[in-house]
Amino acid sequence: QKRPAASLEADNVTKKFGGLTALSEVSAAIPSGAITGLIGPNGAGKSTLFNVLTHVFPATSGSVTLNGKPLPLTSQEVVRQGIARTFQHVQLVQELDVLQNVLIGGYINGKSGLFSAAFGLDKAEEATLTREALIALKRVGLLDVAHTKVSELPLGSQRLVEVARALMARPSLLLLDEPAAGLRAPEKERLSRLLQSLRDEDGMTVLIVEHDMELVMGCADYLFVLNFGTLLAQGSPTEVQCNPDVINAYLGT
Ligand code: ADP
Ligand code: MG
Repeated sequence: QKRPAASLEADNVTKKFGGLTALSEVSAAIPSGAITGLIGPNGAGKSTLFNVLTHVFPATSGSVTLNGKPLPLTSQEVVRQGIARTFQHVQLVQELDVLQNVLIGGYINGKSGLFSAAFGLDKAEEATLTREALIALKRVGLLDVAHTKVSELPLGSQRLVEVARALMARPSLLLLDEPAAGLRAPEKERLSRLLQSLRDEDGMTVLIVEHDMELVMGCADYLFVLNFGTLLAQGSPTEVQCNPDVINAYLGT
């Protein structure tokens, strides 16, 4: 049940917040079926680019295309087109347990509606979703805390719950905003293996914002470097690591 690999492209995107230009004429074609890293210092515009690419808000100017077509207008429509994402700031229901939070991903991704979920209208579908949620939790390594309240988990694990929830959309394109923040070394290694298996086994296109250079350089096929809202460099990890502009602005410090 693979979806065809998705392609996502920003063309000359500028995003202003009042007088502040968070992105300035950024063009970036996210390679299909690969892991792409988006790196750059704090405030460079990485999360803003994610938000424009997933239509959390529109670009001030420029355009975004998904599979060659202009990006649909609502963020729900973006989900239906096969894009799933996590946010830099965890967005989970702290009072619910891990499994329930992952299940919400199944409901909002439009299989069974929230209404039928709440009122138990479709038991068969709920069983299917639960099975899928447990598989997603296993993939992120959190099966043993499925029934733990989210508020009792460390922040790093909460990010992984968000990854599992995003997987419930069976996305063709997955965007993760700083998924490794707060993770310990073995969890980072697991995340890196997961990303590679999503690419290799599920044919997924993966885009990650990540500060952990070891993780990014270890698993990304391609990198974009943002600095002060502009695209400073792009290329393979090796090319980017040798780029003098990048070393100056970011990697050298
Ligand atoms: P990064 O993710 O690379 O750290 P961001 O995209 O979050 O950077 O932010 C880029 C710039 O845009 C920053 O100066 C930030 O303060 C500003 N910014 C981001 N989102 C908003 C917003 N919703 N309203 C106003 N300013 C914002
Ligand atoms: Mg950010």
